[in-house]
Amino acid sequence: MARILAVTNQKGGVGKTTTCVNLAASLAATKRRVLMVDIDPQGNATMGSGVDKHALDMTVYDVLVGTAKASEVRIRQTPGGFDLLPSNADLTAAEVELLDMADKEKRLKHQLNELDQDYDYILIDCPPSLNMLTVNALAAADGVLIPMQCEYYALEGISSLINTVEQIRGAINPQLRIEGILRTMYDPRTSLANEVSSQLTEHFSDLVYQTVIPRNIRLAEAPSHGLPALLYDKQSRGAVAYLALAGELNRKQQHTQLAS
Ligand code: ADP
Ligand code: MG
Repeated sequence: MARILAVTNQKGGVGKTTTCVNLAASLAATKRRVLMVDIDPQGNATMGSGVDKHALDMTVYDVLVGTAKASEVRIRQTPGGFDLLPSNADLTAAEVELLDMADKEKRLKHQLNELDQDYDYILIDCPPSLNMLTVNALAAADGVLIPMQCEYYALEGISSLINTVEQIRGAINPQLRIEGILRTMYDPRTSLANEVSSQLTEHFSDLVYQTVIPRNIRLAEAPSHGLPALLYDKQSRGAVAYLALAGELNRKQQHTQLAS
C-alpha cells in the first residue's frame, strides 16, 4: 500500500515544489517506488522533474475529469528515478469543472487507489491556495507534509492550515494526519529564524522534522536544468538535506508499520 502525502501550505514560495521534487528523488534513491502528482496548474514540479509541460498530450486534468486513467497519463521514470502525473495550465479549468461533478472532492483519491500497489510513496505537490484541487489532494492523502519558512507570520499560517486539515478530516477523510512540519530555506544566522524555529518545536514538538532544509543555491538552480539537486549536484547541502529527510520519513514509516 502506498503512503500518500500531500505537500501543502496555502502560502506560495515556501518550498512545496522544491520539497516534492527533491524528496521524490531522494526516496527513489533509497529504493522506494515513488509517484509524484503535480496538481498545481503552474506545472513547476513537472518542469523541475525534467518533463516539458507544454508538450503533454494528457495531464492530471484528464485524470480528474475522468477522460483518462492515472495509469495512462503517468510518465514512467523521470531522470530523478520517480514516476510523474504531470500538470500544466489545462488544470486551471478543472478547478471550475470539478464543482459540478459528482463526488468532486474524491476524484483524485479514486484514481490513485488504482495505483496503490505500484508505489511505496505518492507525493502530491499542491497549489498555493485551498481550492478544489487542494481539497482533492487532502481527501486522497494519509498525511500532510507542511513546508514552512521560519518567518514572522509563519506560525499563524500553520495554525490555520492545521485547522483546515482537521475540518477535512471531520468531513471527508477520517484518516488524514499531519505527517510533519518541515523547516525550509533555513538560515541559522538570523535570530528571527532561530526564534520562530524554537516556538515551532515548542508548539508542535514531534510533528516538526528533525531534518532542516538550508537555504542553498543549488536547490534553486536545479529546476532550470530539469533535475532534482541530487542529480544536479549531489554533494550540495540541499541535496544532502533532502536525503536526510527521506531517511527520516522511511524510519517513521517503518516505526508505524511495526507498531500497527
Ligand atoms: P512553492 O512551491 O511553495 O511555491 P518553491 O519550491 O517553488 O515554493 O520555492 C520558491 C522559490 O524558492 C523557488 O525559486 C525555489 O527555487 C526557491 N527555493 C526553495 N527552497 C529553497 C532552498 N532551500 N534554498 C534556496 N532556494 C530555495
Ligand atoms: Mg509550487
